[in-house]
Amino acid sequence: MPTGSGYRRQLYRDDAVVLRVQKLGESDRIITLLTRRNGRLRAVARGVRRTNSRFGARLEPFGHIDLQLAGSPEGVGSSLHSVSQVEAVALYGKQFLTDYPRYTAASAIAETAERLTPVEREPSLRLFQLTLGALKALAAGEHAGPLVLDAYLLRAMSTAGWAPAIAECAVCGTPGRHAAFSVPAGGAVCPDCRPPGAAHPSPATLGLMSALTSGDWQVADASEPPIRRECSGLVAAHLQWHMERALRSLPLVDRRESS
Ligand SMILES: [Zn+2]
Repeated sequence: MPTGSGYRRQLYRDDAVVLRVQKLGESDRIITLLTRRNGRLRAVARGVRRTNSRFGARLEPFGHIDLQLAGSPEGVGSSLHSVSQVEAVALYGKQFLTDYPRYTAASAIAETAERLTPVEREPSLRLFQLTLGALKALAAGEHAGPLVLDAYLLRAMSTAGWAPAIAECAVCGTPGRHAAFSVPAGGAVCPDCRPPGAAHPSPATLGLMSALTSGDWQVADASEPPIRRECSGLVAAHLQWHMERALRSLPLVDRRESS
């Protein structure tokens, strides 16, 4: 029988991407992790800011780590787990320190992963794989950073159920590459469904969006800078629209429940 707190802390292992690191007091840190099997969670790392810390350097943002956590995967009795062991799998963060564009892309990836997992300990293997893959691709440097970021955002939005329609009309579902694009309508729209104010991007821009979604890097790498910029603008607008709606709806629900 558990004694004391009435709850025995269990040890468990998982691998994770470090999304965020915050200071806690003199020498501790709170690490926000996206784990492979346990979803997003926050854990305390004790003593990591001491110079002789065994694992401080392994707990930097954007790293892929293998770790042992103390606490129940179900979170019973404690909202904060603690890190008891860390092994580095690949510390991608180091490679972004001297490369500001890649650092900002990595930061946007980590922030998106955190915001797409509003509930802690809700496993999302697909999002974990996408996040890890995007940081790995950024570090490898084979593709332009903004392209890696946009490919990540498009795929991450599809895990949330609101990827933009590209190959069919967002409203009526008529298949085909439609010329107009409307963020509120949900993506590409046919002439019959096109709402006022819809954008008319270059056909190559929707082609790039499609290539990034499907992982056709030959097409993506060959795209021209103006097309990349237009694509980034549409992806960002689409993401912003859905995230703001998602976040606006959450406080409303909370207020109703607490009143
Ligand atoms: Zn339509």
